[in-house]
Amino acid sequence: LIVLDGRPIAKRIRSDVKLAAEKFRHDGIIPTLAVVVPTNDGMADAYVRAIVKGAMACAVEARIIKLPQPSTTELIAKEINKLAEDDSVHGIILQTPLPEGTKIDDLAMLIPPAKDVDGVSPTSAGQTLFGQQAFAPATAEAVLAILEEYKIPLEGKHAVIVGRSRVVGKPVAHLLIEKHATVTISHSRTKDIRHFTKQAEVLVVAVGSPGLIKSKDISPDVVVIDVGINVTDSGELVGDVSPDVASVAAALTPVPGGVGPVTTAIILQHTITAVGLHLIR
Ligand code: NAD
Repeated sequence: LIVLDGRPIAKRIRSDVKLAAEKFRHDGIIPTLAVVVPTNDGMADAYVRAIVKGAMACAVEARIIKLPQPSTTELIAKEINKLAEDDSVHGIILQTPLPEGTKIDDLAMLIPPAKDVDGVSPTSAGQTLFGQQAFAPATAEAVLAILEEYKIPLEGKHAVIVGRSRVVGKPVAHLLIEKHATVTISHSRTKDIRHFTKQAEVLVVAVGSPGLIKSKDISPDVVVIDVGINVTDSGELVGDVSPDVASVAAALTPVPGGVGPVTTAIILQHTITAVGLHLIR
């Protein structure tokens, strides 16, 4: 089994980011990522802490804006609009979960595509769908970055995705199609998931259900990317893929230490790209 370790990839991305960020700082520009946090949520807080830690390590400024509770569409929109106008802010993330009664559709479109470092706006999503230059969701790019790093062939391969969310399943499908894979997306209404996962040469699992995919669900030599992050009752961090998959698969991402660290590094990489976009505007 090849362990598709994300940490060395994240480390390399972060060191490139640091070099670029220090250059910008030398020119008086402080690369700045703003994170709007509209709810109190343990998982979200942990994710935000990981972003802050990563940013600090590579000379990117992370500005965390925790909104007063309970937050509303108006309050969140006001904050995003302020950040959109603010020339000292290069990247904007709207952290989920959103408060009850607010809709991502009313808010994501307020993030200008040039600052949309987690690829949530409809414009970014459309450009990604068309294979155009845009910020794709960082998690989806992280999946592709891992496949590229470990030189997993994609052209003509059957890639099966479990999960069809906007932030992972769908954008991963678009990025894999751009790499000439044949892509199947399965999800909660798929009648027989195993029928598809068995055919996978590359399997990307993004559901949020611990142990959903087991060794009996896959064929030998499949490359498995486990995007899931779940906290067990005992506080352990586990993916969507059961440990017994390691005895059948050719390669597998660990959880933690797989997609997660690459995702946060890519957010920072996007922030550096956003500084460049800001300069040419
Ligand atoms: P989501 O809840 O938005 O989407 C889950 C998807 O899984 C849905 O499309 C649903 O149709 C599908 N699904 C649900 N039950 C299923 C079943 N029994 N069989 C097949 N499909 C089923 O979740 P998300 O935001 O895409 O996140 C998925 C997982 O990835 C979560 O564990 C989340 O924590 C993790 N995640 C990790 C990162 C990272 O950086 N590693 C980033 C984002 C999300």
